[in-house]
Amino acid sequence: MTEITPGIHWIKLPIDAVGGPAHINSYLIRGDIGYLLVDSGWNTDSSFGTMHNSLVKNGLGFEDISQILVTHVHPDHYGMAGRIKKLSGATIAMHPIEKELIEPRYVHMEELLHQTDRMLVDNGLPHDEMVKLRDATVGLEQYIIPTPPDITLRDGETVTTGEFTFRVIWTPGHSSGHICLYEPEKKILLSGDHILPKITPNISVHPQSIENPLGRYVKSLQEMRQLDAELILPGHDQPFTGLRPRIDEIIQHHEQRNRDILAVMGGQARTTYQIAQEITWGVRSRWRDLPDFHRRMAIFETLAHLEMMATDSRIDKLPGKGINYYRQN
Ligand SMILES: [Zn+2]
Ligand SMILES: [Zn+2]
Repeated sequence: MTEITPGIHWIKLPIDAVGGPAHINSYLIRGDIGYLLVDSGWNTDSSFGTMHNSLVKNGLGFEDISQILVTHVHPDHYGMAGRIKKLSGATIAMHPIEKELIEPRYVHMEELLHQTDRMLVDNGLPHDEMVKLRDATVGLEQYIIPTPPDITLRDGETVTTGEFTFRVIWTPGHSSGHICLYEPEKKILLSGDHILPKITPNISVHPQSIENPLGRYVKSLQEMRQLDAELILPGHDQPFTGLRPRIDEIIQHHEQRNRDILAVMGGQARTTYQIAQEITWGVRSRWRDLPDFHRRMAIFETLAHLEMMATDSRIDKLPGKGINYYRQN
């Protein structure tokens, strides 16, 4: 645990699950009566042990946490929130849209899995490959204690702890009800997975996503260019400075991918599955090298680009019988 700026402690929690970032950042922010914890980490023994040791080393315990704020309900940010609440009596706060995602995602998952399968098939994935990719997702729920929030927070509301007053910014895209926290006096932005210093967060169309998530995401980034933030505290990697250059890089990354997709389409009617196989994912990653879990993500990310370009009238979604095709107009 490092005091990254007076009153804000940075805790790096390990992520044991395969594929994805190696750690998640939790932030513990000093208050008058108790601390505000932003994001919880996975519910694993190593994550719990790291959190516990970090608190003890600083003369604190779970009972010192009075509020838990969840930027979004992905397992790495939300998984352990329920366990910490039990030990501390802290309240859990999140955006109302995230609250609604918990049940279908982590409690009664059948319907969501079924919708996801159908969406993959509608976008051209052969049935046998769909079954393979479905198996790649099972098992995440063991890292989450599904716990409803006590408080919901909407865009523009404030969260106060000690000398910090954070403004909630609703930032849909990576998750429909993702929120960031902005402290205008201290010029600090807690950016969750919305803005990360090195990796571009996954923005996907899936059964729980908002309409045109990538378009919403980019619009939100453009609005956030106006923020006067000197220190950005992200959900992964290191705290960083230089908000605007990083926002511009992320927007350019997505624009480049749009161009790559248009090039792959080559004026033909193509399915999302066909396009996803021909895109270069990351530095060297071709479709054939991707693990099943990443293939799923690749299809839904491609779909997010196609939906964005269809919304902007750069391509047409062709009415078909069952399977969706897209073509440049
Ligand atoms: Zn996330
Ligand atoms: Zn994350």
